[in-house]
Amino acid sequence: MYQALYRKWRPKTFDEVVGQKHITETLKNQISTGRTSHAYLFIGTRGTGKTTCAKILAKALNCEHPVDGNPCGKCPACLGIEDGSIMDVVEIDAASNNGVDNVRQLREEAVFSPVSVKKRVYIIDEVHMLSTAAFNALLKILEEPPEHLVFILATTELNKVPATILSRCQRHSFKRLDAQLIADHLEHVAQCENLRLERSAAELIAGLAEGGMRDALSLLDQCSGESDIDTDAVYSAMGLTGNRRTAQLLDYAVKKNTDEALKLFDSLWRDGKDPATLLYELNTLLRDCLMLSVAPKAGADLISGRFSRDILGVFCKKLTKAELINRINIVSDSLLKIRDSKSAKLTAELCIISLCDPRLTEGVDELRARISRIEEDLKHAPVRTAVPAAEDDDDEEEFHSTLDEPPFDLDEPPAPQPRYEDDPADELDPADFAEYQPEDDLLDKKSPVELNPDAPASAADAPQDNESLWAAIVENAEESLPRGVIPILTNPVQTRCTVSYDTLALEVVPGFFYNAVNNQAVLMRLREAANAVTGRSLKITISELREDNDKPKRDIEELRKFKETRFV
Ligand SMILES: [Zn+2]
Repeated sequence: MYQALYRKWRPKTFDEVVGQKHITETLKNQISTGRTSHAYLFIGTRGTGKTTCAKILAKALNCEHPVDGNPCGKCPACLGIEDGSIMDVVEIDAASNNGVDNVRQLREEAVFSPVSVKKRVYIIDEVHMLSTAAFNALLKILEEPPEHLVFILATTELNKVPATILSRCQRHSFKRLDAQLIADHLEHVAQCENLRLERSAAELIAGLAEGGMRDALSLLDQCSGESDIDTDAVYSAMGLTGNRRTAQLLDYAVKKNTDEALKLFDSLWRDGKDPATLLYELNTLLRDCLMLSVAPKAGADLISGRFSRDILGVFCKKLTKAELINRINIVSDSLLKIRDSKSAKLTAELCIISLCDPRLTEGVDELRARISRIEEDLKHAPVRTAVPAAEDDDDEEEFHSTLDEPPFDLDEPPAPQPRYEDDPADELDPADFAEYQPEDDLLDKKSPVELNPDAPASAADAPQDNESLWAAIVENAEESLPRGVIPILTNPVQTRCTVSYDTLALEVVPGFFYNAVNNQAVLMRLREAANAVTGRSLKITISELREDNDKPKRDIEELRKFKETRFV
């Protein structure tokens, strides 16, 4: 039976663990001198060896003939722990056993002496996932541990572990492994496995694994079908058809062509490209552009070398430094989320949508990026002086189109560009809203209606604000709505409505009000009214109205919620 490389090469002794000598030497020493602790906390990012070391420690604590602090690997204790037949060593994943009952049960068992070995060992992985009650229960055992008991807790998130627990554990911090160290180890493994691995490919894998040996070995595994593993083989084994399509995707995003960007992503996804890998590639590309922008001469050492200078040059011209930083932040945020996300594809799609229109995640960075864009445009002012200010929006397209198209070859001929390539919202005619033209004084308010994302933030030309649009919708629907619902809909404390160019998003205070509005007939009626008022076909979403104290961070979450809430 084929065994995954990362399992096969999982270290069996402290000496085999790569790159964590500061920890393994200490633990070996403790085993040799018999001065072990009853509670350990292993901290570090994923794949850095926490659970591997926990298992080695569990064996070493019970080994009948430890060798220089390492478990012998041959005695009944070592063998029994390795194959899981010794019930005194228990591995618990706190992510799925996080309740107080689980810990209480554990506490009841823990008092009994071990059956077949010296020490009963509990390895609790992802310990930060325990509930508060479970932590309190755990604390009770840690306060007065029986002699035979050892806890090895592992976590990726130290800040979520209560201080009371921390103070009772011996702490060890696992380092992210150096890329060179990982590459060295990969070469060693490849040699033993009769794989021909080029150094550049080993380094590429090491870079992609971001300091985690387990991820690095898994990636090597994915490439092991190739007889010669070079960088191309790595790209293709990971579902990358090359970096040019990643560059093409960014190019669509820069042109705000959400439609084509999502289509291209979908086709990459169908080709088997991993969404996280794609985002990683996008970030590498953006980062390389930034490096080239801030240090054009020193840049050569700083860039990844995965994208040609021609490609980087194109984006350096198209995006200001602040815009690059802003987009790097957008992609980085999504990369953080994608690992825990149940739908990596959705997370990547939201990221691409945000890249096409960074205003969706508007924050200080985005404002900075917009200011830098205005400044950049002003530099080109002489060409534009004849253009009346009011037509600036359309002018941006013209400005961009004066730059050369990317000189890189595409796998496919470029798709024909729709005339409104900058934004589908450009299709909307403000005349659609003429009937509901708000009062002059409303025009000065910042409107959350993003009918045209290219419009200035002051929304001086926004066709209509949310409040009056919503009032018109409710008025239109009023007659056919249940009487009790109307006061909820018209009370801004209970209901908030946001109209974007294709969605009517309702947020309603959870509980009674939410349940009253979240009713098929009510939502259907509201959507009909919204369609009648706007003249467009909107979809309607409803979600629970939450406290509004973290406005800048909410947008992505909101977008995510759209998919989870009921659609009519
Ligand atoms: Zn042993």
